[in-house]
Amino acid sequence: MSSKIEDLLVIQDRDRRINRLEREIEDLPQRQRLIEAQLDSHKKALHDAEEDIRKKGLEQKDIESQIEQRQERIRKFRQQQFEVKNNDDYKAFEKQIEAQTKEIAALEERQLDIMEALEQLEQVCDTKQAALKEEEQVVAVDMEQFKQRVANLQKELDEVNADRANLAEAMDPEWLSRYDRLFAHLKDFAVVSVENGACGGCHMKLPPQAAHDARRLDSMTLCMYCGRMLYNIP
Ligand SMILES: [Zn+2]
Repeated sequence: MSSKIEDLLVIQDRDRRINRLEREIEDLPQRQRLIEAQLDSHKKALHDAEEDIRKKGLEQKDIESQIEQRQERIRKFRQQQFEVKNNDDYKAFEKQIEAQTKEIAALEERQLDIMEALEQLEQVCDTKQAALKEEEQVVAVDMEQFKQRVANLQKELDEVNADRANLAEAMDPEWLSRYDRLFAHLKDFAVVSVENGACGGCHMKLPPQAAHDARRLDSMTLCMYCGRMLYNIP
C-alpha cells in the first residue's frame, strides 16, 4: 500500500500532464493561423501579378485604339487630298498624313515594349501560380497533420483526465482538497521534496523539525513559507 504523499505525487504527475496538454491544444489555433497567413501571402502575390497583367492589357488596348484613330484620320486625309484643287493644299494634307504616320510608328514601338513586358509578367504569374500550388499542397498536408495532432492530444487528455479521476476517487478527500487548492494556485508543484534541508518548491531553508516531519509520508507537513506539501525521503 502506497502512502498518501506517493498517491498525491501520481495525481500531481497527471495534473502536470493535463496542464501541458491543455496548453498545447490552446496553442494550436495560433499556429494554424500562421500557416493560413502564409498561404494568404502567396495568394496575394498571385493576385498582384494578375492585376499587373490586367493593367498592361488595358494599356495595350488603349494604344491599339489610338493607332486605329490615326489610321482613320489618314484615310480621311487621303480622301480629302483627292478633292483638293491646288498643290499647296495637297502638300498640307501630305504633311498631316506624315505626322500621323510618325505617331503610329511611335505607338507601335510602345506596343512592342508592352508585349515584351506582358510576356515577362506572364512568366512571373506562372511562377507565382506554381508557388501557390506548391504551398497549397504543403498547407493541406500540414492541416491534415494538425487535425491528427489535435485529435491525438485530445484523446491523450481524455485518457489522463479519466486516469486522474480514478486516482482522485481513491485519494483521502482532505488531502486531495488541500492539494487541489495548492496546485490550482501554484500551477507548477503542490507536493515537493525536501532538498538539502530546503523546500524543493520555494527553496527556503526549512527548520530541522519540518524536514524531519516530512519523512512521515502519511502525515501532512507544509512548507511554512510557500505552503507546499513536503516529503523527505532520505
Ligand atoms: Zn516552500
